[in-house]
This record gives sequence, structure tokens and C-alpha cells, in this order.
Amino acid sequence: MLLRHTPAEVAERKALTINPAKTCQPIGAMYASFGIHGCLPHSHGSQGCCAYHRSTLTRHYKEPVMASTSSFTEGASVFGGQSNLIAALNTIFTVYNPDVVAVHTTCLSETIGDDVTQIKKKAFDDGKIPEGKRIVNVSTPSYVGSHVTGFAGMCAAIAKEFCVPTEEKTDQINLIPGWVEPADMRELKRLMKEMNVPMVMYPDTSGVLDTPMTGEHDMFPKGGTTIEQLETTGSSFHTFALGKFGSEDAAREIQRIAKTPFDVMDLPIGIRATDRFLMKVSEITGMPVPDSITDERGRAVDLIADMQQYFSGKKVALFGDPDQLFALTEFLLDIDMKPVHIVSGTPGKYFSQKMSEIIDDEVPTANYRNGSRADTFLLHQWIKNEPVDLLIGNSYGKYIARDEDIPFVRMGFPIVDRIGHQYFPTVGYSGAIRIAENILNALMDRQDRDAPEERFELVM
Ligand code: SF4
Repeated sequence: MLLRHTPAEVAERKALTINPAKTCQPIGAMYASFGIHGCLPHSHGSQGCCAYHRSTLTRHYKEPVMASTSSFTEGASVFGGQSNLIAALNTIFTVYNPDVVAVHTTCLSETIGDDVTQIKKKAFDDGKIPEGKRIVNVSTPSYVGSHVTGFAGMCAAIAKEFCVPTEEKTDQINLIPGWVEPADMRELKRLMKEMNVPMVMYPDTSGVLDTPMTGEHDMFPKGGTTIEQLETTGSSFHTFALGKFGSEDAAREIQRIAKTPFDVMDLPIGIRATDRFLMKVSEITGMPVPDSITDERGRAVDLIADMQQYFSGKKVALFGDPDQLFALTEFLLDIDMKPVHIVSGTPGKYFSQKMSEIIDDEVPTANYRNGSRADTFLLHQWIKNEPVDLLIGNSYGKYIARDEDIPFVRMGFPIVDRIGHQYFPTVGYSGAIRIAENILNALMDRQDRDAPEERFELVM
């Protein structure tokens, strides 16, 4: 009973967040930076922030996460971090020689008001940046937004830095995948290749945060979107932004720079969201969905139909990032489950609007909320008042799952106590099979555990 002090009675809080369902902006900015080949993320703030951000990403991806820091001390905290950042950039290019440095701020540098765009200009003007090297910067104060906001901000900053406008458009599309796992990015590339759709996808963390063991440490692994590819985003004829919270800002930036039209789509998690994505790509590009993908869809639907009796009517509580929650809630409804409690720490009015469209007609009594007070403490209270058969969320959900004795499926960020999330996609039809498998295993393990001897079945 680690959460034994959580009361069932819900008291509306105005200022206090308890066990937030989010983490801080720079982590998202750092993750997006790893999707550029040869990029070193740089944290403009104190060492402690950078250490926390790196360790969170390392624990989730089980990979070394390299990032540098401006290493603020008392002096920088009072007088500003300009000299720290310029000295850091000089050291970074001298010692590590990345192609790109992606600078994000922290609460401290934002509070003292450092203007990183001006410092960056000074570093170039003073000749501190070697020829051909690039610097991206984004503002990521963590007292607003969440890791998702930081991710979206860095994606937009990458577009601002690299997108080169052209009059002549090619037959290539831009794909902004949202905050998904390296395996999801690999899967999206595979799907587009199966459809013969030329594209540039960024950020692309496959081959960066899921690298094979070679016996050698590579500071800049071979994955990631290259600068040359990023520069072609302005000549693509269309942009697909997957996830409004994670990707829309970048699509708008490309549109602003290169007049490239865009569609914001749900993350292709589950059957219907994947259908919508692939059909839209087919409509815009004129490329048909091949039989091989239709067969994948058929296999996913077959599995769901075969196991329908285990899903049907089961109540689910879920928490995490809004773009994932929209598609996942829809998928749960499609497989006849009942999402009854949903929280996301990421703020934004669109959350309630979109969630109401998805769920209000299907489960009129469902609780959903986002923002600072939509924390896992509130989720736990809701569960105490209306118990559920399944909990879905990141590793922090294990405390609620243990206290309330609920089957638990890990999904989202961070997952720091299990593996597999970075290797097996949840997007596309094969991702739908993976999610369904994880849910079924949790529910069937519970059924086995609780079955009396006379009802303990070999065949399920
Ligand atoms: S001080 Fe701000 S940026 Fe640093 S770890 Fe804390 S919340 Fe994140």
C-alpha cells in the first residue's frame, strides 16, 4: 500500500499537483534532437537538469544518451549564461564535432531571461562556430507545458532552421511522426515504403536510440534525419503531422516557410486511426494501399474478433500523452472495452474537445481531464470511486496497480521497469496486434491467477 494515503473523496485543488502525469519540457526537446543525424542536444541551464533529462531518456531507451550542458553556477544564475553557452559551444565543436547542436533552455535560464537566439548570433558573429555547423534553439521553460510541448517546440525549431523553401515541389511528402518510439518510426517508414511513397520523416530516432551492439561506442549513431534530408522538406508537396499536440507546430512552420499544405492526423494507433492515415496518404499521393498492408489489417481484425470475449465490457483507466490517448481510447472502444477514467498532464483546451468527440456518446459517464491538476493522484481517486479491470500508462502506474490490485499494461513515457517498448511498434496494424496482445496477456494472466481450481482452464 505505497499510496495508502490517497483518499477516495475527491477535493478540487487549485494549486497543488500530486504525482504528475507528465514530465518536463526539455526531455521532449532532447528526444526530438536525437532524431537529427549527428546532433548533440545541449541543455542551457544547470548540470542537475541535464543529468535528470539524460537519465530519464537512458532509463526508458536503455541506451547511452549524450547531451551537453551550460553548467550554470551561482554566477551564471545571477548574471546570465551567455559566456557559459559560448564557451560550451566552443568546447562541443572542438571535442565532439557534431553537425548540429540543438539548444533547449531550462527553468533557470528562462527565469533569468537568457535570449538564446541573441547568444547564438553572437557566437556566429564572434567566429566561435566552425564553418558549416548548425545550431537549433528552442525555449523550454518547464513551469509551463510538458515533455510533449518541448518535443513539439523542438520539431518546429528544426523546421525553422532547416526547411528551405522552393517554388518547384517534388513528389515527396513530409512525415512528422509525433512522439513515438524508435520502433514506431521504423514502422512508419516501412509502411510508406510498402506504399511506394517517397518521403522525408523527421525526427527519426530509429538507429539512434535503438542501436545494435557492435562493441564500439558511436557518439553519433548512423540513424536520424540528415541535414540534407531536412533541407528538402521545403520542396515536399505535402506534410502529414501525426498528433496535434506533438507535430502540428512543425507542420505549420513548414507551411509558413515553404507554403506546403498539411494534414494533422491522429497517431495511427489502433485500426481506425491507421485506416484514416493510410487512406489519406493514398488519397493525397495517389498511391494505393497494397495487399500486403490490407492483409496486416485483416490479421489484426482477426485476432481481435477471436479474443472478443476477453475484451468485451472491461473497464479501463488510462493516462499519458494526449496524442496517444486519443487514438488509444478510440481503439479500446473499437474492441468493446470501456475507457472510464483518462488523464493527461499535458495542458491544452483541445484535449477535452477531442476526447468528448471520441467518448461522450460511447461512455457518457467517462471521466477525462488534462493539465496540471490532472495527475495520477486524481486518477487513483477516480479508480477508488469506480474500480476498473485494467490500467494503461507509463511505469508510474505500477503503484496504483499494486495498491488497487489491477492488471497493468505499460504504454507511454517513461517506461523504466520493463523492456520491449522501444523495439516493438504500437503504430499501424502490427502495432494494434501488439497492443491487443499486451492487453490480453494482462487480462488472461489475471483470470488464471484468480480462477478457482475447478475453473482453471488450459485452453483459453
Ligand atoms: S528545474 Fe525545470 S527544467 Fe530543470 S529538471 Fe526541474 S522542471 Fe525540469
